[in-house]
Amino acid sequence: MSQEYRNFIAGEHVASSSGNTTEVRNPADTDEVLGVVPASTAEDARAAIGAAREAFPKWAGLTPPERGRVLHRAANILEGQIDEWAAALTREEGKTRIESQREIVRSVELFRYFAGEAWRVGGDMLPADTPHTLLYSARVPVGVAAIITPWNFPLSIPVWKIAPALVVGNTVVFKPASATPIMAAMLVKLLHEAGLPGGVLNLVIGAGGALGDALVTDERIDAVSFTGSFAVGHALYQKTAARMTRTHLEMGGKNPIIVAADADLNKAVQIVAQAGFGLTGQACTAASRVIVERPVVKEFTARFTAAAQALKVGPGLADGVQMGPAVSKGQRATDLEYIEIARGEGVEVLAGGGAPDGGAFARGYFVQPTVLAGLRPEMRIAQEEVFGPVVGVMEAADMEEALALANNTSYGLSAGIVTNDLRQAIRFVEGAEAGMVKVNQGTVGASIQAPFGGFKHSGSGMFREMGKGAIEFFTKIKTVYIDGQ
Ligand code: NAP
Repeated sequence: MSQEYRNFIAGEHVASSSGNTTEVRNPADTDEVLGVVPASTAEDARAAIGAAREAFPKWAGLTPPERGRVLHRAANILEGQIDEWAAALTREEGKTRIESQREIVRSVELFRYFAGEAWRVGGDMLPADTPHTLLYSARVPVGVAAIITPWNFPLSIPVWKIAPALVVGNTVVFKPASATPIMAAMLVKLLHEAGLPGGVLNLVIGAGGALGDALVTDERIDAVSFTGSFAVGHALYQKTAARMTRTHLEMGGKNPIIVAADADLNKAVQIVAQAGFGLTGQACTAASRVIVERPVVKEFTARFTAAAQALKVGPGLADGVQMGPAVSKGQRATDLEYIEIARGEGVEVLAGGGAPDGGAFARGYFVQPTVLAGLRPEMRIAQEEVFGPVVGVMEAADMEEALALANNTSYGLSAGIVTNDLRQAIRFVEGAEAGMVKVNQGTVGASIQAPFGGFKHSGSGMFREMGKGAIEFFTKIKTVYIDGQ
């Protein structure tokens, strides 16, 4: 009998009002049922919003360090259970054990970082126009936040939204991706073990359409923080704009890495392979286009193809596995469909190009690490996000063309260059249209103290995640005049 998970509303585990449930299965072995979760309804979402509204005044009334202590305790508990959490994360999402461990450690650090912010959320003391007057600005919580997250970092993305939201005094309704509800349930349980009062963080599990609409159109929601695809984010933004609800969107990418003619090619291959195939290519910052200067394109492509073919694909918990499965049947179908689209557009498949056959692969959603050559900017495969282990090589005559190709997409999340030429590096940093630019590093990976977010269709752009930006999003500014005469 697999474990049953429920919604968590007003401090209680509750079934969905629909009475319906769905199964969660291991993407590396679909015979393994990991749990049963509710198929929640708009009514459940409304109940969760009601609970968050009710809990808000008391939670907001605590001192910031009192709230920070809950996050500190959550960090300490999580740090003592890294291996168990990593195994659970791999079973549900598919990434390798080491990738999961990194995500858990990152989540511990995020809790600690935002717990520390409790002592630092300040405002500005300003000179007043009249004598004996205090004039200052203070940051106050926004209210009730709806937090909607994707499946690819099923712990750390929720943590990097929920931790700052809570520490500054907001209450939350959390809707995780349907593919990874178990990590979400574990996270909510962890925070309550750490002392979070009931009603402050409420979990509703279920399909995005029904729940998402109920959340983002409810007038009791004061802020919406969404990470996911452009299509869903764009539609959501129109609904929150109609109500003028504070909204933050982080969305997809078609991230480029330029390999300059002077680059150390071994290093370049390592960087691109890690950024392209790490996490099964299922990172918003994954490199999906590698733009190589003509003098080295042949040599780079040969070495990169060999590196892709050498990667060991398999269940993320098995020893030595370097790349796990796609998260779901639907995502694998998307990956394979894009490879076919690319073939149809005339690209050459140099490595991979399909699903591996039989054996350990028969019951999972595996996709081969795939290298495509001959991409041109007008092709769909050069423009649309695949979100799988598919990397296309593009050739550039010189650095000017490489930069133009890098920028030739509607997305602008992360962009990289591999070069030893400082001049080229600086020109790239100045010219790249991306929220994060990396010189001699892969496009994936971000520091928690640094602003995280994209340009163009990769993000709504007004706010940033992590660092100070997260606190800015989850607070509003109150200006105070106190006349002491
Ligand atoms: P998605 O399909 O857009 O879903 C994201 C979240 O939105 C899920 O919780 C989903 O629920 C929910 N949702 C679906 N329809 C909704 C609606 N009508 N209203 C409100 N919410 C709705 O994205 P995904 O497949 O989970 O994640 C992959 C995408 O996320 C990629 O495009 C990737 O680049 C992007 N991503 C971006 C970042 C970043 O920081 N820029 C980070 C990670 C991932 P269901 O799961 O129930 O459909």
